[in-house]
Amino acid sequence: MDLSFPPEAESFRDRVKVFLTENLPANWKGTGALSLADAKAFANEWREILLRNGLIGVSWPKEYGGAGLSFLEQVILSEEFVKAGVPMGAPTDVFGFQMLGNTLIAHGTQYQKQYFLPRILSGEDRWCQGYSEPNSGSDLASLSTRAQLEGDEWVINGQKTWTSAAHLANWMFLLARTDPEVPKHKGISFLLVPLDQPGVEIRPIRMLSGESEFNEVFFTDARTDGINIVGEPGQGWNIAMTLLGFERGETAATLPVRFRVEFDRLVELARETGANKNPLIRERLAWCYCRLEVMRYMGLSALTAFVSKKQPGPEASISKLYWSEYHKVITELAIDILGPRALCLSGRPPSSSFQTDDTGALNSTASWGVTFLNARAGTIYAGTSEIQKNILAELVLGMPKG
Ligand SMILES: Cc1cc2nc3c(=O)[nH]c(=O)nc-3n(C[C@H](O)[C@H](O)[C@H](O)COP(=O)(O)OP(=O)(O)OC[C@H]3O[C@@H](n4cnc5c(N)ncnc54)[C@H](O)[C@@H]3O)c2cc1C
Repeated sequence: MDLSFPPEAESFRDRVKVFLTENLPANWKGTGALSLADAKAFANEWREILLRNGLIGVSWPKEYGGAGLSFLEQVILSEEFVKAGVPMGAPTDVFGFQMLGNTLIAHGTQYQKQYFLPRILSGEDRWCQGYSEPNSGSDLASLSTRAQLEGDEWVINGQKTWTSAAHLANWMFLLARTDPEVPKHKGISFLLVPLDQPGVEIRPIRMLSGESEFNEVFFTDARTDGINIVGEPGQGWNIAMTLLGFERGETAATLPVRFRVEFDRLVELARETGANKNPLIRERLAWCYCRLEVMRYMGLSALTAFVSKKQPGPEASISKLYWSEYHKVITELAIDILGPRALCLSGRPPSSSFQTDDTGALNSTASWGVTFLNARAGTIYAGTSEIQKNILAELVLGMPKG
């Protein structure tokens, strides 16, 4: 089996390395080495540099402002950025690019592609994801937010919760029930809704760490244009699953590199603190290393599927389950290595679910504590570990339901 990338992909890697050398300051150590304020300022400037150099939305077609590169080249770009400790864009870009943009390219109307994609690229539109509701998380298809077509507008009533970055966004893609009479999966539609309107109220949720990363969002006769539906009415479930496939598939391909950078930093920390002399710690590090190697092969397998344009299937759940459970273990090891110093939570912000620049967050010892807390969330968002196991049992292994 040949696990190397083709030569044209490697020459693209060389171009990326030259770009990074030319555009980053000398002695650059990654955003994790910056203060919170400096890291935020850097992220904004960096996004502008990427935009000017056509390095945002690289795999999107040129007609919508993308660079028309292959998915493989996008992964290489992402790998080199992770190693350099720089983000692929602004923190909220993951919703606009990885999730909605790719979904619109697959299922959007010509108008939706021409109108929304350039605005995602420019940063004029910032998106968030309105799936979960207070009574519908794992059982998402039971959602009760309603949308009705009145004249040429959809009118929306209901509530979303745990909406990451809604306070930073001006649009939400959401799932709403448009037909309560049909079976639950068939009565859902996928709508694009502007947030800056009187019928929308966004309330931040304060987390244990003191940060407010996600929100409750209330809709009271909120409106969106009739043309802002992706797919046909009632097709929303399929569109929503395509979107989750993009989220999980791309993550599976790029995450092993990010985790390797993190692991190397932990080994460095173990050396600095002398913990590497403890055989039990060395054994736990070896366990993490072995898992990382498995993850690397799973990432290559996901990449192969993506490059051959196979839609990610239920096996994407293996990757989600594997990396999120791994991350809990390695961050626990980091806490054990740090000892009481891990209690200090100040320093860089959490390496949250939606931040693309979180690899750098591990440069300072203080941020391991915050990353430890966030790793717990990894087994909940994008489908909990129990739900991934159900999917694997029923859809991959063919075991009976329940
Ligand atoms: C950091 C973070 C960011 C998030 N961002 C967003 C966002 O931007 N947009 C969005 O829409 N949502 C977001 N979410 C919400 C997330 O998708 C839900 O929390 C998740 O789907 C679980 O739903 P729930 O919280 O309602 O838990 P529940 O579904 O109530 O589950 C509670 C517990 O029961 C278990 N359980 C439930 N059903 C079963 C079953 N059938 N078999 C076995 N066990 C079961 C679950 O595994 C879990 O342990 C975010 C969550 C987190 C933690």
